[in-house]
Amino acid sequence: MSRSPTLPDRPTLELDPESSPEERLAALRDHLRQLADVNDQLQEQLSAVRDHRADLREEVDDLQRENETLKTASLYLATVEDLSEDGAVVKQHGNNQEVLTDVSDRTRERVEVGDRVTINDSFSIQDVLDDETDARAQAMEVDQSPSVEYADIGGLDEELREVREAVEDPLVNPEQFDIVGVEPPSGVLLHGPPGTGKTMMAKAVANETDATFIKMAGSELVQKFIGEGSRLVRDLFDLAEQEEPAILFIDEIDAVAAERTDSKTSGDAEVQRTMMQLLNEMDGFDERGDIRIIAATNRFDMLDSAILRPGRFDRLIEVPEPDQAARERILDIHTRGMNLAEAVDYAALARDTEGFSGAELESLTTEAGMFAIRDGRETVTMADFEDALAKIQREEENGTPGYAAYVQ
Ligand code: ATP
Repeated sequence: MSRSPTLPDRPTLELDPESSPEERLAALRDHLRQLADVNDQLQEQLSAVRDHRADLREEVDDLQRENETLKTASLYLATVEDLSEDGAVVKQHGNNQEVLTDVSDRTRERVEVGDRVTINDSFSIQDVLDDETDARAQAMEVDQSPSVEYADIGGLDEELREVREAVEDPLVNPEQFDIVGVEPPSGVLLHGPPGTGKTMMAKAVANETDATFIKMAGSELVQKFIGEGSRLVRDLFDLAEQEEPAILFIDEIDAVAAERTDSKTSGDAEVQRTMMQLLNEMDGFDERGDIRIIAATNRFDMLDSAILRPGRFDRLIEVPEPDQAARERILDIHTRGMNLAEAVDYAALARDTEGFSGAELESLTTEAGMFAIRDGRETVTMADFEDALAKIQREEENGTPGYAAYVQ
């Protein structure tokens, strides 16, 4: 706020009692002129202060209006298409409606064409969102060359063969499909318990085909703002197109593709819209070139049948818990880099770990290593594995999650 202007000095009149009447008259006239000057200055200051007060009132009104707008929940997401004297043209995500809306001075300072903003029911801009690329980066994992190889995956030979057939062959040998005259499967759906190697398989195929691995969790697609989920789906496919050849891996697909329930909340409608966008993108897939899509779920039973129709996720591959032979193989794989004191009896360990997932077996080997370190040893013994197993089983009985819970 500007400071009050300094007031002009008040003129004083000192009359000499000895002076003649003419001299007194002149002095009085002079004094009157000075008083008139001061009066002018004061008038000027008064009108400046009045102007300032009017400005402040306007600012207070603006802020009050903005405050009211901010107090109502921000629900919709939009992109600023144009900014002009008249306001901003915003395009609402989801329904692509374009609207001209008023922009407060404060917002105008922060907003640029192309920004994503939140708008309320009356389309007034409430907030300017972070850079789109940041949001993308947060939601998607992009790996130009994942390090997982087929040899890192224990068991799952048949499942891996099927994934390679559906994903690798169309990328590496597309002519084969033309010659035989069949369309390669659009999408592959891996389903099975957590930690059994679904993500690993997708990464390994990306690695072996020199494709970029792009991962997004279905739960990330379920967004707070209306229209945001479908926008992310579009972004995801656009990114895959830029990065092709690419493997698009959508984990937890059930988050957006669960069977419809009877509830009709706006949240459900938004999830539904996101799934429709996903199906649309998959339907227009043929023109997309070298992009293969793999989805995964632990909740196959919950999926909406629309997502399983031919031309969509039409290759379903169950990824089971590892059997005895697979458990032995997984233990072998995860102890490859370990300094073992003696031959570890994988068969015995595999027998004792029925029901363990690959991720849990990996955590068992890490726990065994921790026992050796705690003992001050540089090598890991069979006894360490047995101790680790006992510890994990104890934790399971007590219901306290051990390391296994954190490695997935
Ligand atoms: P989720 O359903 O929880 O996403 P997932 O099935 O995708 O799990 P992954 O992320 O592939 O499981 O596996 C987690 C970790 O468990 C892997 O990084 C790997 O170390 C280990 N693992 C799981 N399955 C296997 C396997 N078959 N062979 C070797 N390691 C495995």
